[in-house]
Amino acid sequence: MRGSSCRMNVAAVLNGLLVSVLAAVLWKYAKLREHASLVEEELLLTRQSQELSQVRIDYHAALQALQEKGTRMVCTGKMHTDRICRFDYLCYSTEAEEFVFFHSNSSVMLPNLGSRRFQPALLDLSSVEDHNTQYFNFLELPTPALKYMPKPVFVPDVTLIMNRFNPDNLMHIFHDDLLPIFYTMSQYSDLDEEARLVFMEGWSEGAHFDLYRLLSGKQPLLKEQLRNFGKLLCFTKSYVGLSKMTTWYQYGFVQPQGPKANILVSGTEVRKFTRFLMAKLNITKEESPEPEEYIVVFSRSINRLILNEAELILALAQEFQMKTITVSLDEHSFADIVQIISKASMLVSMHGAQLVTSLFLPRGAIVVELFPYAVNPEHYTPYKTIASLPGMDLQYVAWQNTKEENSIAFPDRPWDQGGIAHLEKEEQDRILKSKEVPRHLCCRNPEWLFRIYQDTSVDIPSLLEVLRQTVKSKPNLKKFKPASTIHPGKVREPKCQASVQGTNEAKLTVSWQIPWNLKYLKVREVKYEVWIQEQGENTYMPYILPHQNYTFSENIKPFTTYLVWIRCIFNKTLLGPFADVLMCRT
Ligand code: UDP
Repeated sequence: MRGSSCRMNVAAVLNGLLVSVLAAVLWKYAKLREHASLVEEELLLTRQSQELSQVRIDYHAALQALQEKGTRMVCTGKMHTDRICRFDYLCYSTEAEEFVFFHSNSSVMLPNLGSRRFQPALLDLSSVEDHNTQYFNFLELPTPALKYMPKPVFVPDVTLIMNRFNPDNLMHIFHDDLLPIFYTMSQYSDLDEEARLVFMEGWSEGAHFDLYRLLSGKQPLLKEQLRNFGKLLCFTKSYVGLSKMTTWYQYGFVQPQGPKANILVSGTEVRKFTRFLMAKLNITKEESPEPEEYIVVFSRSINRLILNEAELILALAQEFQMKTITVSLDEHSFADIVQIISKASMLVSMHGAQLVTSLFLPRGAIVVELFPYAVNPEHYTPYKTIASLPGMDLQYVAWQNTKEENSIAFPDRPWDQGGIAHLEKEEQDRILKSKEVPRHLCCRNPEWLFRIYQDTSVDIPSLLEVLRQTVKSKPNLKKFKPASTIHPGKVREPKCQASVQGTNEAKLTVSWQIPWNLKYLKVREVKYEVWIQEQGENTYMPYILPHQNYTFSENIKPFTTYLVWIRCIFNKTLLGPFADVLMCRT
């Protein structure tokens, strides 16, 4: 299928994947046929097309531009951790495995950091912050050096060059790669359907490469494939680095894992992304008038098993009077799983990467995360954080196995599957006796691995107990309406008027007009907050008021200056900005 769709795209491809010298085309031809992968096929077609249409002028123009103008780089971001750079004519030597910046009189390098470019790097190539295996930099050469180098092969696609962080793990794939790629592409209008993704982390495709293919119309390139195209590749236009705006979790490289300190993404952006993916996966969310409500148990089949899954399913079905089904990554395609989860009322699963699929749950659904014995749910919250993103509108429940006898551990497995046989006897005994894994750093803590790879027989009564306690309302997807996130503007024309009665009493009348945007909105509840501070004092008196004026008399002294701040609040939580402070003299 991929082959035929590729051929249908020949016209598009003719306009150009790679431009190269005729000699190089012929020289490469035989080699390319040997490893006929999809990418190579595209390349081949393009080169053949060039022979036919003789668009060599483009090559010469490109080469001339590179020789005369060199590389140009302009970046956003003050620090290497928030930087994304746009390049014209960034090159890559597949022999040296280094990016190359060619200096000429008219090349540009902004920021021009000098040797600070190596402290520690120009930018992070993955969305994981400041990870020392993910740094990007380039080597520098003067353009005349091109004379002595292999003829460059140009990549005319607009490319996004980046690292995937861990393409074998579904949580990492979504959190570190897919969402950041999607929103980096929306940040730059020329990173469109025709853009080319280039993954430089050096991994092979991985189990979920099809998901990456959904993000652009062109086959993503892997680092190992670049050498098939030539010794010196020059990207006509490229962006390097990924936006971290959508990430919500830090994995514990410098401090124990947890939600990021300053989360900037909300359910609105997550759902825009999941809608995009679902459309690409041909999943329809058609609304039947009486959709069947159901619970999904997402089971793992290799490790961290639920040992009494049948019993669990029966109990859930009985408790909620709902059909309960299981899915697993070995038995269902990813598209089928997303289809099922996108209409589920509740998702129940052991802690693990498969829970990232809760991104696809409908508003109002419940996520139930099960934790093995001795693993504290509070310490591992990537999925709890998803559920609590504003506007995701999911309820979250964690259940932990507290009965050691309901747990099966695997001390004799390899260390990366939780085995501890390689440890000193004393350390093994300590771990076996421990009732909770202490907080730890990523990624090889043996006690953590030992506990997280236990199988669990879920104690049904205790699970139902936390479900009844925590679930605020039985899931009802039909009734669920997203809350408004529209904030009030400033209140307008704030005024104050003072009156003094005798030597001890004074009054302060404050009035204002409604925010400008309110007259176009239907808001359930509009309130105003007024802060009154005596000039020179540190404290203030806050008031919540329903109308647009109020006369304060308590604690108001004569012949005193007060500072008055006023703001509007919609529906108890949506705060507006304060109007300019009023100075009121009684
Ligand atoms: N995985 C799976 N079934 C299993 C165990 C793992 O499909 O029984 C998948 C899992 O969803 C993840 C990857 O294999 O994408 C790595 O799993 P691991 O246990 O290493 O990571 P975790 O799930 O704890 O993040």
